[in-house]
Amino acid sequence: MTIYQNLIAGEWIGTNATKNINPSDTNEVVGLYADGSAEDTKNAIAAAKAAFPAWSRSGIWERHVILKKAGDEIMARKDELGALLAREEGKTLPEAIGETIRASQIFEFFAGEALRLAGEVIPSVRPNVGVEITRDPLGVIGIITPWNFPIAIPAWKIAPALCYGNTIVFKPAELVPACSWAIVDILHRAGLPKGVLNLVMGKGSVVGQAMLDSPDIAGITFTGSTGTGKRVAVSSLEHNRKFQLEMGGKNPMVVLDDADLNVAVEAAANSGFFSTGQRCTASSRLIVTEGIHDRFVAALTEKLKTIVVDHAMKPGTHVGPVVDERQLKTDTDYIEIGKKEGAKLAFGGELITRDTPGFYLQPTLFTEATNQMRISREEIFGPVVSVIRVKDYEEALATANDTPFGLSSGIATTSLKHATHFKRNAEAGMVMVNLPTAGVDFHVPFGGRKGSSYGPREQGKYAAEFYTTVKTAYTLA
Ligand code: NDP
Repeated sequence: MTIYQNLIAGEWIGTNATKNINPSDTNEVVGLYADGSAEDTKNAIAAAKAAFPAWSRSGIWERHVILKKAGDEIMARKDELGALLAREEGKTLPEAIGETIRASQIFEFFAGEALRLAGEVIPSVRPNVGVEITRDPLGVIGIITPWNFPIAIPAWKIAPALCYGNTIVFKPAELVPACSWAIVDILHRAGLPKGVLNLVMGKGSVVGQAMLDSPDIAGITFTGSTGTGKRVAVSSLEHNRKFQLEMGGKNPMVVLDDADLNVAVEAAANSGFFSTGQRCTASSRLIVTEGIHDRFVAALTEKLKTIVVDHAMKPGTHVGPVVDERQLKTDTDYIEIGKKEGAKLAFGGELITRDTPGFYLQPTLFTEATNQMRISREEIFGPVVSVIRVKDYEEALATANDTPFGLSSGIATTSLKHATHFKRNAEAGMVMVNLPTAGVDFHVPFGGRKGSSYGPREQGKYAAEFYTTVKTAYTLA
């Protein structure tokens, strides 16, 4: 079998490889992907450092053309790349194609941004002095990504890093190297100079750690768990390096008595269970007021009965498998914790057998949960959702905000007053009204508060905050 190699200083290298396994069918090896070493990582960082001076001064048209070419190729190959994504991560084929389209759109957006780089010219308080404020690239950017969005998250970090003139060392999650390899290959063929984008696949404890330990990385952008995020933070402070963290969530969706029941049920089912609940923006706490509680739980339970869990590539599958055995164990452990804590298992909770060996778990709904239970406070990252009954809107808002996280927060209501109040008072980076808490646009800021995020927002124009550093220049005329 071919080994998909690492790209270091413009050369494909690596003979040690790890199997990329399909979670829908563990007999299927998606491919063999290089297992990089600490030495490879050091070489990649050195190559990115060497490439930085020329790339940081490259013309904006060159950057535009490369980013545009990449976006176009990803779109042209959306079905093939979507299938690759579904096979390595386990989200359904339509979800995977949707994510691939989003990756293409992100490259198109930053291709446009490359042509819109601008600064400010303002008068000085001193006569005959002019002031220019411009943005410089940071230098070498370390990109570390998780397994749950194998093409979109790499795209939303790589595209702005290149757009603003940085060079890159990119380490994708070990579980899902295939889509990352594909987009690096696309960018390499699109004409990126040697060393501008380096790919080092391999273990977090080896490749990731070597990135954290390097004094030559000027900024690290990280998406993943809170535990690893803290390591990124501590090491970055030691190296006086800029860092950006996107971490977990325990996103609430409030359902008020006056909600449209269908809208509320569709939003809860979508954001709680689709993509196997493996989205940092998934709704894992449904906070429901008394007057609609029983009707909502009954309708959501009926909906869950119709959700088909099966092979990600099979037509008609709504929810694919859990990503791997370790995550499946986390999910089932939390199901046991929920039962022991006294929540009522209203639906699911069991492993499922399908035609192919995979990590299949029923959508799982707990009712009679409290906001103090571990299943309501800790991120599970699986298709496990708890319903918390509350008296009224005020208690719902307080419960929604009573969490260590703050990524996305939703409300289902027909009341303009409550929707407006919730938008203003939800302690989250993103607020959704009558929409799932998951599912965001590619051209506007993404990120959270409290334990969910640290540093500037990602995506849209706001991405410039992380990938550039501001320079103020004074000139005596
Ligand atoms: P991890 O933190 O385990 O891994 C994230 C990345 O960090 C992987 O590439 C991993 O490599 C790498 N890594 C692991 N150890 C180290 C280390 N010592 N030094 C440097 N890098 C390291 O998270 P998961 O991949 O398991 O992703 C799931 C988590 O990500 C969930 O908690 C979820 O909420 C969060 N997430 C947050 C999002 C957000 O935007 N807020 C979006 C998506 C996910 P390896 O794969 O080899 O272990």
